[in-house]
Amino acid sequence: MKMSRFLVPTLKEAPSDAVAVSHQLALRAGLIRQEAAGIFSWLPLGIRVLKKIEQIVREEMDRAGAVEVLLPTVQRADLWRKSGRYEDYGAEMLRIKDRHERDFLFGPTAEEVMTELVGAHVNSYAQLPLILYNIQWKFRDEVRPRFGVLRSREFLMKDAYSFDVDEASARHSYNRMFMAYLNIFARLGLSVLPVRADPGPIGGDLSHEFMLLAKTGESMVYADDRALGLPAPGTPPEDPQALQALVDERLSVYAASDELHDVAEYESRVEESHRMEARGVEVGHIFFFGDKYSQSMDVKLDGPDGAQIAMQSGSYGVGVSRLVAAIIEASHDDKGIVWPAAVAPFDIGIINLAPDKDDVTLLADTLYNALQAAGKQCLLDDRKIRAGGKFADMDLIGLPKQVVIGPRSVASGQLELKDRASGETHNLSLDDVVAALTQD
Ligand code: ATP
Ligand code: MG
Repeated sequence: MKMSRFLVPTLKEAPSDAVAVSHQLALRAGLIRQEAAGIFSWLPLGIRVLKKIEQIVREEMDRAGAVEVLLPTVQRADLWRKSGRYEDYGAEMLRIKDRHERDFLFGPTAEEVMTELVGAHVNSYAQLPLILYNIQWKFRDEVRPRFGVLRSREFLMKDAYSFDVDEASARHSYNRMFMAYLNIFARLGLSVLPVRADPGPIGGDLSHEFMLLAKTGESMVYADDRALGLPAPGTPPEDPQALQALVDERLSVYAASDELHDVAEYESRVEESHRMEARGVEVGHIFFFGDKYSQSMDVKLDGPDGAQIAMQSGSYGVGVSRLVAAIIEASHDDKGIVWPAAVAPFDIGIINLAPDKDDVTLLADTLYNALQAAGKQCLLDDRKIRAGGKFADMDLIGLPKQVVIGPRSVASGQLELKDRASGETHNLSLDDVVAALTQD
């Protein structure tokens, strides 16, 4: 992509109402634009990051055996009346009437729609287990939308729902999602801690939140620091007991958010030198709630002995759009964003310092074409603006690798290759730059 034909509206200063660093940087780097309180447009760089996160989430859901569907954003109110949540959900629900005065709402979550969908198409226990997921925009009329897309009103969520015949197999589904979440966050390049959580209004008796440690976090996390940096579990075992053992092992290291923090247990289980207290952003939340919706929505199946049975379920959310901000919170410096390679909007930024000089432009274009041909995503800054602005913008938007090409590169045959995270630079020939950037 050539920057002269792209849209990256960078800003020198963030608006004064943006207090969180991720909000400031997302606006300054031209990722998002606020349309109304808690409602954003995704600009070209922002949507590329969002789509990459979405794709990693999708691949890990698929690997865990979950099946993708796409539910509507607008849901029927009567489904929520049936489950009893229409009134309970309160002011966070955006309620809509259609032209026939029928009640609808913009979905804040989808337990009701999914439960009814499964009830309509699955009529025997033999068709279970089933885990369905949906990556769709949600709306919650938050009292205090803030920190940009970290807590917005409209946001992209991956929500999965598991359906099983009994509690033991439902726990196995829960464990599969638990491991899938660890894989997702590891692939995103993030240190995320699973902490036990209060199931809250969704109900149920088993729940974990996945907390990314970051200063803007709204929760406190208390943990044994050895819980950080554990390797991703990879493809989990099929055998339920083997999987349960792996989950138990992960959970044997103390980690809790303020809601369920037990000071006495913490102090007895974690030696002082390993105690870690930090702020965290919730990037995922999983719940097991048994037959709650199957009962309240009256969705039953034929059980093994012919009698009607209720399904045992859980729901599993990842804040896909929240992750864009959460990753910036966790990965930035005083110059701007430092994207982990897996989600960077482009792999490589090329700066052409003299776009009006044919020989410099030829060299920059040659590099650009070679890297694109090797499957790398490149953003070439060919704008006719001063060099300082190009350097500042390239650091601000935070692409993992940068190559600087100017008149001196033509004269010496050396291009400057820079690693955004470490700031290290190397002068290399064109061929060596291509080799260095395409070796993996
Ligand atoms: P929070 O406590 O932060 O309000 P929640 O417990 O209400 O979150 P869930 O209902 O579990 O959230 O939703 C699943 C995921 O969706 C959350 O873990 C979070 O990553 C994301 N999410 C929830 N609310 C928002 C929001 N207002 N803006 C952006 N992402 C959100
Ligand atoms: Mg909430």
